[in-house]
Amino acid sequence: MALTPRAEVSELFPNVQQEIARLSALPEIRSAFAWLRAQEPQFAHWQLELARIPAPPFGEAARAAWLAEKFRDLGLDDVHNDDVGNVFGTHRGHGKSYVALSAHIDTVFPAGTPLNLKQQGSRLYGPGVSDNGAGVTAMLAIAALLCAVRIRHDLHFVFIGNVGEEGEGDLRGMRHIFSAPRWKDSIAYSVVLDGAGSDTIVAEALGSRRFEVIVRGPGGHSWSDFGAPNPILVLARAIQAFTETPVPLSPKTTFNVGVIRGGTSVNSIPESASMRVDIRSTSMAEMERLEQALRLALDHAVEDESQAAEKRASSQRRPFGLSCEVVVIGNRPAGELDSNAPILQVIRAVDAQLGNAAQVQRASTDANIPLSLGREAIAIGGGGLGGGAHTLQEWFDCSGRELGLKRILLTLLALAGVSG
Ligand SMILES: [Zn+2]
Repeated sequence: MALTPRAEVSELFPNVQQEIARLSALPEIRSAFAWLRAQEPQFAHWQLELARIPAPPFGEAARAAWLAEKFRDLGLDDVHNDDVGNVFGTHRGHGKSYVALSAHIDTVFPAGTPLNLKQQGSRLYGPGVSDNGAGVTAMLAIAALLCAVRIRHDLHFVFIGNVGEEGEGDLRGMRHIFSAPRWKDSIAYSVVLDGAGSDTIVAEALGSRRFEVIVRGPGGHSWSDFGAPNPILVLARAIQAFTETPVPLSPKTTFNVGVIRGGTSVNSIPESASMRVDIRSTSMAEMERLEQALRLALDHAVEDESQAAEKRASSQRRPFGLSCEVVVIGNRPAGELDSNAPILQVIRAVDAQLGNAAQVQRASTDANIPLSLGREAIAIGGGGLGGGAHTLQEWFDCSGRELGLKRILLTLLALAGVSG
């Protein structure tokens, strides 16, 4: 999606732009900005502290406990964990609905990864410091601010440190929140903080489906059992057919065969072979279509290899059966915001107010879940600058965090409503 020029935003949505200007000029918001600036050393300290607590996929409990304690210390209400380990804290407004500010607390790093975090000047180094140390810290910063500076907001805020965003976590934390009766209808807007930066707005949820395909056969000796059906040949046939499936440029749709395994030795007919397939699109229909193409290619490949094996086999040796199992190992739903969605109007107006150039993007984030349900959601960065995500060389630069925090604050307050 193209970036809408700033001038156009204010022409299209004059009231939103005026409202953001009004908010920015309120004395309590001016003091909020000053407070955020003064607290930067505290924010950097929190960021290092949390990144030192291991949070591998399905092992986020220690970091969740740390966050719950911070929520309590700050003075948030109703601090609690849910069944899957998400941490919640609220700041009360007046209405019934909530504006949710969330950040995933899990990392990609497996248990046992050395978490050597250090600070040099304005730079923080170490695994997870930016993804999602930056997001969690920005969420804490906003929560701390609302507890320290009195701002009357209409809707309630709920702050959420959620589990299971990365990899095999498969958005389980967010999925659970949006299936919980307490939250699924009461969260009116979701702002997801993921990583560093202030220059993007994720408003399109890139969906993905991931499969592990396992083909099994009787196996055998390459010479004496020649003719037995071969699982590797099934995969080869299936890959050939599947990867010829046409995909549209728009909505962008992709596929990948990323891992292939199997076999015993050069002179054995394999007993099994497997592959991992990744399908991505912003369109649910395209993902469905490609999944069907994959399943069809596998069915045909099993059939063709069985027939070919019968031809290869000597008349007295009938080939044994082949089986094929398709296991879903990832399923992230796709979705996108309407271009006139209020949440998008608000963040664009905030960017215009702050003179911040940001681009609307598609990505796979926690926002996939609300977006796929047709709800108002965006994912943005926690400010500052970051790099080396998902590597041990990850870094975060705190300079510029202030802009990101102002951006988050104004967006949240505009969504919640602040009485004049
Ligand atoms: Zn992340």
